Amino acid sequence: MRPFVYERPEDEAGALATMVRPNAAFLAGGTNLVDLMKLGVSAPDILVDVSGLPYRDVEELPEGGLRVGALVANSDLAAHSAVQAAYPAVSQALLAGASGQLRNRATVGGNLLQRTRCRYFQDVAKPCNKRAPGTGCAARDGEHHDLAILGASPQCIATNPSDLAVALSIMDASVHYAGPHGAAAVSVHDLFRRPGERPDRDTNLPRGALITAVVLPELPIAATSVYRKVRDRASFAFAAGSVAAAVEVRDGVVRDVRLAWGAVAHLPWRAWAAERALRGAPATVDSFARAADEELSAARPLRDNAYKVPLLRNLTVEVLREMTS
Ligand code: SF4
Repeated sequence: MRPFVYERPEDEAGALATMVRPNAAFLAGGTNLVDLMKLGVSAPDILVDVSGLPYRDVEELPEGGLRVGALVANSDLAAHSAVQAAYPAVSQALLAGASGQLRNRATVGGNLLQRTRCRYFQDVAKPCNKRAPGTGCAARDGEHHDLAILGASPQCIATNPSDLAVALSIMDASVHYAGPHGAAAVSVHDLFRRPGERPDRDTNLPRGALITAVVLPELPIAATSVYRKVRDRASFAFAAGSVAAAVEVRDGVVRDVRLAWGAVAHLPWRAWAAERALRGAPATVDSFARAADEELSAARPLRDNAYKVPLLRNLTVEVLREMTS
């Protein structure tokens, strides 16, 4: 491991000031960054440990909704009674991720900023446009069974590994951050990006921005939400595909629905086309399948990941069928 400077600022202003220095990185739970440093994928000169900053609370907001501090541990958020009652898909997504030990250590902010698990990104001996722009993408003709079928680019077919981000997508959550130009917030839909020509950029956060909180707005439909994950083994594995869903049915008709998919794209994939197809449609298996097919018409699978198309279709249909029966 390369030598680096470790700093532990006492407050937010100190953290932001330290980040202005070249090649600095924030450290919170460290469950992803430290692994990447060991692999040589990430090599910051300065580690800015923000784990002592006061972002560890979950607050109920006067206007409804929750404000979740960026340093709340994944396990604490999953077990929070207000989350379990009003946003169960968030709790289920967190419990579907990593191991108990990692969830105790990993933070909400770090979960959103974790990097792709594409094996070539993690192997410094291989070409990778995300790790080393302009070197190529070893995954496209290599091992890509777990990579993207939607929204990819010729430069990168990586997937976003966060389960939490998929659940937050159907909640219309916002991500609050402090930056060199003050405090700001971005919708979770605008936080993540498609790889395009710049796969080295995972998010639209300005450089040096520090996530301080995630706000979940009051959203009655979220109280019945579900997160379902398919993976190669029952625990401690990333998704082969996942679905976050919330649906409201009256008189056999879908009045409102929210759907997002995980492990299919560089970002949590909000299934807008499927939602449009379902609103006003009869709550039947045929409607669910047609809506999933509508969304999946944009899929561009590669040699070894075409299985994700029927996987997402069947998973979506089954989750909606269970929720509405
Ligand atoms: Fe790198 Fe993206 Fe290609 Fe993986 S898919 S090797 S992360 S450029």
